[in-house]
Amino acid sequence: MSYSSRVERVRARMAELGVDVLLLSVGPDLPYFTGYEAMPLERLTMLVLPRAGDARLVVPRLEAPRVVAQGDLFEVVPWEETDDPIALVAQLVGAPRRIAVGDHTWARFVLDLQRALPAAAFERATPVVSPLRMVKDADEIEALARAAAAVDAIAAAMRDVTFGGRTELDVHRELVERMLAAGHERSNFAIVAAGPHAASPHHEPTAERVIADGEIVLCDFGGTMHGYCSDITRMFHVGEPPAEVRETYAVLQAAQEAGVQAAVVGVPCEAVDAAARRVIADAGFGELFVHRVGHGIGTEAHEDPYMVAGNGQLLEAGHAFSVEPGIYRAGRFGMRLEDIVVATADGPRRLNHAARDIAIVA
Ligand code: ZN
Ligand code: ZN
Ligand code: ZN
Repeated sequence: MSYSSRVERVRARMAELGVDVLLLSVGPDLPYFTGYEAMPLERLTMLVLPRAGDARLVVPRLEAPRVVAQGDLFEVVPWEETDDPIALVAQLVGAPRRIAVGDHTWARFVLDLQRALPAAAFERATPVVSPLRMVKDADEIEALARAAAAVDAIAAAMRDVTFGGRTELDVHRELVERMLAAGHERSNFAIVAAGPHAASPHHEPTAERVIADGEIVLCDFGGTMHGYCSDITRMFHVGEPPAEVRETYAVLQAAQEAGVQAAVVGVPCEAVDAAARRVIADAGFGELFVHRVGHGIGTEAHEDPYMVAGNGQLLEAGHAFSVEPGIYRAGRFGMRLEDIVVATADGPRRLNHAARDIAIVA
């Protein structure tokens, strides 16, 4: 979808909600509508997008050369080092009105803008932009599928890798290097958690911890490829897993399958969470599944829609999200299984296809 049709649609959304001006700075919203990503700096970059009338991109003079014009979508308004960009934005906003501000905008700029526009009402831009960004078009789904295929190949290759005797950090570095080699422009995370560490869902891999024989290893890794994110979790075991691990994993895999199969257009997001959770609860492990079942994914690793109890948002074709239940036995072991799924008119479509069993490694 072209930037101009995205802008057209967001303006319709602003009209629907009664928002007069949309202000976007750092973060993923600005590139979604303009193709330009602001540097996260103390120098303000801000798109001033009125519901009607010309859009202006306020940028520091030294960054203006990086801006790629998109027809007459926006006019570039550079500011000099000695100018006051807050006053400039306030002037472009004009008379006091309802202003929606992008979620990632630095607090210092929001606070200064509130002071400069005391009569305006400020609100979060999420309700304006999120319904658009959530529904991925064919090109976006293709980009997510390519990123997923890249990490699938890594998950497959890791089955032939030696884990025993290496540190978590060493395996972490290998995952990062493999993601970059596979075409990711950056790695966003690469969790490697051995044995009891795997019971902490967001464990930080360490240089001290050596992976031992007979240990389970959780690998949850993802990055950004051509602007879109990958995110996969697969389990490895150094040597044969004991019966308890196998039995627990069978429950986890059934729960993940139930979550994926529940991801049908028209059902609320919370039903996806409930479907996976029910399987784990029925096996008596309900207390050990301590997080929501999934998050939306796109240009951000975590974005709307969230698969969580209380989210009544109905799944639409084009919603892309993770299904990643986990079972965590504190002090002993933990496990998670994660795929990216897209809701389609023909039912849930998994983007990840790497084998889902526990890989037995050396
Ligand atoms: Zn996570
Ligand atoms: Zn993950
Ligand atoms: Zn995830």
